[in-house]
Amino acid sequence: MNMELSRRAFLRTAGAGLAGTSLGAMGFDAVEAAQIAHVKPFRLANTTETRNTCTYCSVACGIIMYSKGDLRKGEKAEITHIEGDSDHPTNRGTLCPKGAALLDIVKSPSRLTQPMVRKPGSDKFEPIAWGEALDRIARAMKDDRDKNFVATNKDGVTVNRWTTTGFLAASATTNETAWCTYKVVRSAGMLVFDNQARV
Ligand code: SF4
Repeated sequence: MNMELSRRAFLRTAGAGLAGTSLGAMGFDAVEAAQIAHVKPFRLANTTETRNTCTYCSVACGIIMYSKGDLRKGEKAEITHIEGDSDHPTNRGTLCPKGAALLDIVKSPSRLTQPMVRKPGSDKFEPIAWGEALDRIARAMKDDRDKNFVATNKDGVTVNRWTTTGFLAASATTNETAWCTYKVVRSAGMLVFDNQARV
């Protein structure tokens, strides 16, 4: 549980409890009961924390997503709250206004939740399965590389270039993921390689 929020929740509840106790001492029992009933349960109680990275920009701030619903019991998990990760070295718990509104992205009815394809000759995108999407991408990349890979230049010097496919990497990743992405792209000979951070 996030310690900062725990302290805030404790102080809020303790403050309400103190007010209620004072009212009771003065003989206002009904008022005390109403005051205590007014205190809402801590909204992050019984939630599951999942660490992630903000999807918006290349600053890649750390976030904590709080969800209700126990997947182990077959329940559907639903994200109920998102806030900055106070342990993350990039943002230390802070979020800009876009990051602070991340829950709106999650709940947006227009958010893409699966891969889409526009088939040759079609005028619309259709959803496809993740496995099929990965197979199609891998097939297209392999075919293009086989057809266009340049092993040597006109002077016979080894160049190992693949210039007909480009790769746009995300910056909302860990250093390790970025390192692996770079190795895969460059070892395939791909020269057209850019990053979200420059877009
Ligand atoms: S919280 Fe703001 S600054 Fe941080 S990654 Fe998200 S959009 Fe960028």
